[in-house]
Amino acid sequence: MAARSTATSLLSRRLGAAAVRTSAAALFDASFDSLKLSFLPEAVIFPRNKADIGVVLLLANEHNIPVTVRGRGTSLTGSAAPRRGGWVIDLLQFDRIKIDVTAGMAEVEAGAKVADIQNAAEKVGWFYPPDPSSKEYCTIGGNVACNSGGMHGGKYGVTRDFVMALKGFMPNGDWVEWGTPTRKYAAGFNLRDLWIGSEGMLGIVTDAVLRLIPQPAARWTLLLSFSTEAAAFRAVAKLFRLRVRPAICEFLDRYSVQCAEAATGETVFPGQPGRPVILLELAGSPAEIRAERLILLKWARENALAFRAAKTREDAERLWAVRRKCSGAMFELGDSKLNEDIVVPLRSYGKFVRFIDGLRRSSQLSIPCFGHLGDGNIHVNIMYRGADPEQRRAAEAAVEELMAAVVKLGGAISGEHGIGLAKSPFLRLQHSPAQVNAMMAVKSALDPKGILNPGKMFEVFPVWEHKRLSIALPWDHK
Ligand SMILES: Cc1cc2nc3c(=O)[nH]c(=O)nc-3n(C[C@H](O)[C@H](O)[C@H](O)COP(=O)(O)OP(=O)(O)OC[C@H]3O[C@@H](n4cnc5c(N)ncnc54)[C@H](O)[C@@H]3O)c2cc1C
Repeated sequence: MAARSTATSLLSRRLGAAAVRTSAAALFDASFDSLKLSFLPEAVIFPRNKADIGVVLLLANEHNIPVTVRGRGTSLTGSAAPRRGGWVIDLLQFDRIKIDVTAGMAEVEAGAKVADIQNAAEKVGWFYPPDPSSKEYCTIGGNVACNSGGMHGGKYGVTRDFVMALKGFMPNGDWVEWGTPTRKYAAGFNLRDLWIGSEGMLGIVTDAVLRLIPQPAARWTLLLSFSTEAAAFRAVAKLFRLRVRPAICEFLDRYSVQCAEAATGETVFPGQPGRPVILLELAGSPAEIRAERLILLKWARENALAFRAAKTREDAERLWAVRRKCSGAMFELGDSKLNEDIVVPLRSYGKFVRFIDGLRRSSQLSIPCFGHLGDGNIHVNIMYRGADPEQRRAAEAAVEELMAAVVKLGGAISGEHGIGLAKSPFLRLQHSPAQVNAMMAVKSALDPKGILNPGKMFEVFPVWEHKRLSIALPWDHK
């Protein structure tokens, strides 16, 4: 520890005391993310310019200091928490956004907020589709590091599908540029894509060039209810067979709908409380919407119990209320929530519904599910009372069972949140020893001293043995 504080003093002399903060408040603020497990760093660094990041990494390698990069700290897995202490680099001040209207690209700095990028693009007729629910807070650097996704994923894809080029620093402090601001790129190993989803463990992103698509001229929203979750899933499979790809295809099971209905005091479909629903949104040119709307209406009549289409944007907003309300409203079912962002392949949807029903029975917990049916990324919300040891044990066991089942069904233990600390116990369920060894070999080739974000992903972290902070964050209940 003495060696670390000597290195911190050295860094402070190089960058200036204003760039290297060590106050108790600064250290605490940088010690956790949305998983709310706290690990205090020795210093939080606010680089004056990008070259400072290289200086930090050079010194960190020289003195064996762990370095964790931080965007906004909305990660739900603990990936942004400095598990081994050391230095946290805060990149929020690098937030420039420049839209190239001709090429349809956004040149952005890592600390730019995702909603700001979307808004800047929209103002000039372009669209950046990846839209995590946290987009009003999270940064594009964090989105690249976690390969984040959102409701538009089923039709348009996730962050990876929109990154053309990245700039930043290798763990040893070398400046690198991966990819070019061009739509095609086949010049050597693709380390750009290796950085995407690497959770701040293989490099530090300072800049990104993002592909944009034309802003859809029109949107059309349809809300449908079904008798059962299985019926809803079967209907969606039929829709995909009709070759219709809605821009958004959100599913809420009956428990999620019941939560939203309790919160608003209104039934989504009068006379049919607590039915599973699907919320669809078409996006495209008016002609495309007209053609797809006809197909959708016929499909809705044949498959849904009831449905309602939006005639105006205000109508659409009203249809969206059930989706917007459900997540926060779940806290009526328990003060603690494990939001597991698993993915199941379309062919396994039916088996998944049966599994979740069984899990509810065996765990005796409330487990409302909702999510992006367009890409199979379903959020399984295990609700429990944090102070009740029996419920805590049941929740822990339910997560274990869920992860094993998802892998057995051919799915993924995470679709967008990543591994970090929270999912580290399950990495080896998803990956064979050969696969894990290959990933670890990449890590040690690029970061031989293990400087960047150590103690994550590959080391099994016993999340349940650690007490979470009981503090409210601005994005809680979103
Ligand atoms: C209410 C809520 C809703 C959410 N909804 C979604 C959702 O719909 N979809 C989704 O995908 N996620 C969602 N998330 C998770 C989270 O918002 C994303 O993972 C997001 O990408 C994190 O961004 P951040 O700026 O907060 O990064 P942080 O949390 O600060 O960091 C996350 C990881 O990225 C690394 N990192 C950050 N910046 C950089 C950089 N410049 N270079 C290299 N590594 C970096 C960190 O080291 C860390 O490993 C949600 C979270 C909350 C709290």
